[in-house]
Amino acid sequence: MNDPKKLYYEKRAAILVRNLKSRHFDAYYCDNKELALRKALELIPEGSTVGWGGTMSAQQIGLIDAVKQGGFRCFDRSAAESPEEKLEIEKNCLFSDVFLTGANALSLDGQMVNIDGYGNRVAAIIYGPGAVVVIAGMNKVCENLEDAVSRARTVAAPANQQRFQRNTPCTVTGACGDCKSEDCICNQIVITRHCRPAGRIKFVLVGEDLGL
Ligand code: SF4
Repeated sequence: MNDPKKLYYEKRAAILVRNLKSRHFDAYYCDNKELALRKALELIPEGSTVGWGGTMSAQQIGLIDAVKQGGFRCFDRSAAESPEEKLEIEKNCLFSDVFLTGANALSLDGQMVNIDGYGNRVAAIIYGPGAVVVIAGMNKVCENLEDAVSRARTVAAPANQQRFQRNTPCTVTGACGDCKSEDCICNQIVITRHCRPAGRIKFVLVGEDLGL
């Protein structure tokens, strides 16, 4: 029997892929994690330098492990042995051939919303790396841009703070308190509405729930 959620994701993905392409993004829909991993690797030329920000979705499809083991030069800040080295690796990511990231939310009309604490991830999405590969589960897709911003602020950010356990209201309550805490992770709220140059940002949409 067909899985209704899969059918729902497939149908919404057909709309989203069309709308992303109308904004000059490249976009692909993969039914599951295994196909998504294969597609993402096809988008990364052998020998590329590859960087990434915090991205649970790329980890969940096995992409981070695959690039570490593949024929790429990786900028992996988790391997840093000091805060200075971590900063250096994050800066190198800005000049990588390919940057890997997730998305906090997408609107069905083809716009992406990301929230960032330090800004390294959104900086790389905006400018620098030659290509950006976005791995996004269909659970991130919202009806419109307003809902996507709301998802990023009221779902993704408080959920991510449960991982970091920093000193913010959402860490304690699970709800956004619109804080001005030093530990706030909602410092940059970026809407990516169009892709220039065309095809620089490539979406691999996955018919499963990924990330937060
Ligand atoms: S409480 Fe602060 S860190 Fe948490 S979601 Fe709201 S603005 Fe972001």
